[in-house]
Amino acid sequence: MAEDRLKDLRSELDVINLELLQLLSKRADVVQRIGQLKQARGVAIFDPEREKQQLDRLVQENPGPFPDSTIRHLFKQIFQASQGLQEEQRKLLVSRQRSHEDTVVTVRGIKIGGGVPIIVGGPCSVETDDQMEKIGQEMQAQGIQLVRGGAFKPRTSPYDFQGLGEKGLRMLRDTAQKYGFATVSEIVNPADVEMAIQYVDMIQVGARNMQNFELLKAVGNTRVPVLLKRGLSATIEELIYAAEYIAARGNERIVLCERGIRTYEKATRNTLDISAVPILKQETHLPVLVDVTHSTGRKDIMLPVAKAALAVGADGVMVEVHPEPQVALSDAKQQMNFAEFEAFMEALRSAGMIPALTN
Ligand code: PEP
Ligand code: MN
Repeated sequence: MAEDRLKDLRSELDVINLELLQLLSKRADVVQRIGQLKQARGVAIFDPEREKQQLDRLVQENPGPFPDSTIRHLFKQIFQASQGLQEEQRKLLVSRQRSHEDTVVTVRGIKIGGGVPIIVGGPCSVETDDQMEKIGQEMQAQGIQLVRGGAFKPRTSPYDFQGLGEKGLRMLRDTAQKYGFATVSEIVNPADVEMAIQYVDMIQVGARNMQNFELLKAVGNTRVPVLLKRGLSATIEELIYAAEYIAARGNERIVLCERGIRTYEKATRNTLDISAVPILKQETHLPVLVDVTHSTGRKDIMLPVAKAALAVGADGVMVEVHPEPQVALSDAKQQMNFAEFEAFMEALRSAGMIPALTN
């Protein structure tokens, strides 16, 4: 008799368990719909105030026999699991799950991504009119369409050349206008972004500023293409989140750039993380460049490293070129002179890794 009673009660529990399961699933469905709305409105997933209200209400209505502390504990578990669902659901704007198609970033009509690798070249710093005139001629002769040149230089020492500032941007723009290039230049101060976009076609966020969140927000507020370099000690995940800062403000015209990271290795200036390229291509839909100059710091291995970058799927390579590297005001040791640059370009062309010169 007692045996039957136990069996009956257990059957009753089984039914209640299934009902609870149905209710939990129903609750999870609502949680996911709330998650979508939170994402659309840019609202944080966890809302401590709301959680407190719900727990207080449940405790108030607690009919027993569970003590209030148990009710709090049980529902906290449910809330945590729900939060997990919303986090799982929240896919980053830059993530591959958001777009199976590769994003092509167009800078003044020049496509980055989409299959044809690009070489971005130019001096570390804009220095003189004469230097820029020579750069203009050389870049044109080599078919370079996107030219770099630093005007705001984030130098390790405050006593080193800091760049020409706005004047440098103007010189870069004048050269670009004369030769028909698009331009990219680094900006370090969020307050300079509006001024800079009067001159340049693409803004570079340098390695030292990858987590300058105010700068990321400022470039995110524009609709100008951004070249975002990986921080010196940043993980791939941190680089992706930095890109998300820009995308979250509505600017998805982002190109990522692997430029080497700090390791114990001294043979190169930084350690080029070549595996970052296919990982970034897999995890995001953004184009990826590799800066072979700042990563290696060595002209003797730039060509094989550039080939490796293109072989693993980089959308292009950035190199520093200077008419007289030995007297350059920054990065004198690692900038290629014109003869070296021509040999570099010719080798990539004859390997079929970049398009042939057309004229
Ligand atoms: C640069 O490209 O001019 C530069 C300073 O590079 P990075 O930020 O990668 O050091
Ligand atoms: Mn440099």
